[in-house]
Amino acid sequence: MAENNFYLTTTLPYVNSDPHLGFALELVQSDAIVRYHKLLKQEVFFNTGTDEHGQKVYQKAEEAGKDIQGYCDEYAEKFKQLAPALGILPDIHFIRTTDQHHIAACQEFWDRCEGRGDIYKKIYKVKYCVGCELEKTESDLDDSGHCPIHPNLEIELIEEENYFFRFSNYQKPLLDFYEKHPDFVVPDFRFNEIKQFVKNGLQDFSISRLKEKMPWGVPVPGDEDHVMYVWFDALINYVSTLGWGTSMKHEAGNMKHEKKFQVSSFKFHDYWGTKEKPNAIQIAGKDNLRQQSAMWQAMLMSAGLPNSRQIIIHGFITSGNQKMSKSLGNVADPYQIINQLKSKGLTNEQATDALRYYLLREIPTFEDGDYTWERLVETYNAGLANGIGNLTSRILKMAHSSSLLPWRGEGREGSNASNTNQLLDSYELAKAMDEIWAKIQACDQFIQKEEPFKKIKTDAEAAKKDIEYLLSELQNIAVSLQPFLPKTAEKILEALKNLKEENIPRLFPRII
Ligand SMILES: [Zn+2]
Repeated sequence: MAENNFYLTTTLPYVNSDPHLGFALELVQSDAIVRYHKLLKQEVFFNTGTDEHGQKVYQKAEEAGKDIQGYCDEYAEKFKQLAPALGILPDIHFIRTTDQHHIAACQEFWDRCEGRGDIYKKIYKVKYCVGCELEKTESDLDDSGHCPIHPNLEIELIEEENYFFRFSNYQKPLLDFYEKHPDFVVPDFRFNEIKQFVKNGLQDFSISRLKEKMPWGVPVPGDEDHVMYVWFDALINYVSTLGWGTSMKHEAGNMKHEKKFQVSSFKFHDYWGTKEKPNAIQIAGKDNLRQQSAMWQAMLMSAGLPNSRQIIIHGFITSGNQKMSKSLGNVADPYQIINQLKSKGLTNEQATDALRYYLLREIPTFEDGDYTWERLVETYNAGLANGIGNLTSRILKMAHSSSLLPWRGEGREGSNASNTNQLLDSYELAKAMDEIWAKIQACDQFIQKEEPFKKIKTDAEAAKKDIEYLLSELQNIAVSLQPFLPKTAEKILEALKNLKEENIPRLFPRII
């Protein structure tokens, strides 16, 4: 495996509603992490996409009176456009679970688990939340028998013959694996949560649905009456996106997959890693802890594939301290927020970095955080307009008026980025940004104390040294900002390369 390869994937959002701020958070967090690894000169595979099967999607399309594939195409496009809107790296890979190569990979995966003896059929009688697409036990439900995440939906009682996955076989292998990888789930308190869940004993889970009830799914190989359960199908995208599972000849019912697709098995191990050296990093919300760090890991073991390297779990975004919900009308829409910022006179790039700033610094990386427009305006003015924006223009103006030009990067040794790097290594994104803003503040204080703009008239030599120091600090700040606010960092670095008055960027105008 190439040592220098980095793999990170988001979860795949369901295409049953418009993208909301919670998924924007996951994308932006991922992008900052991936950009950091790119700056470390790693080869990166960055994955996102859309989860398009399942009962919920099927029902939504029916309600809307739309052709199901057309419905999925429309929503997939909305999610695809989110990446450029949020300033995400343009080479991000976008997979859809309705992609033919993904479907083939799912069937290959199923065959492998079945070959292992981990798939069997039994009568299935269970409480099921259509909102979560998850089976629920008594203890998962609230006092009124509803899913606490979807209190408006009735829990369904399902009784039919389904295929099951022998999750119960994987209690010990999972606990052994966790033991061997003490940083497998970040943060620690989430890791403890999943260890406890596995220690309490694992129930086999259903991995199919009757096709006559739920036609919108991946056909189970060798059984035309069944389609795969949506989680089983969706999780496999993390490996199918790398081309896994499409190299083998495969027949299922009247479907045929014969080297139809682009195959690169070498790419799979390069990025996904090996059993000895897992390499794949996954990011997910706290509601996905169980699926990512236990169910999916057991599935990988069953299929004989290497496990993931690490699972990063973030919190939820509330809106005005309430859970976002359509009925409350408080669902924060990232497109709408960007447009609102643009209506205040910001350019596209400024609006994008302003939203990134809020998501990365104001939302605690691993905890729940809150969004309101008022808070966004407040933090924008404090951190961006008055913070980095003001500092940049002050330093560049002083450099210009002190006939220091051209500046060739000389100056007192500036502080390096090692602190922010350490924080980024442990995915402490908000803390890393606090660190950068502490430097911004330190520069403001330095200017206030040393007053180089006054010194120019009395002690030009000393003023020159001060300004050189400030220029090199600004350069360090811009370099540290690259993973978080890429466009802003680029503008500052550009201006530093070519110090002219007309090149001084107006980074962030104040807004009201
Ligand atoms: Zn639910």
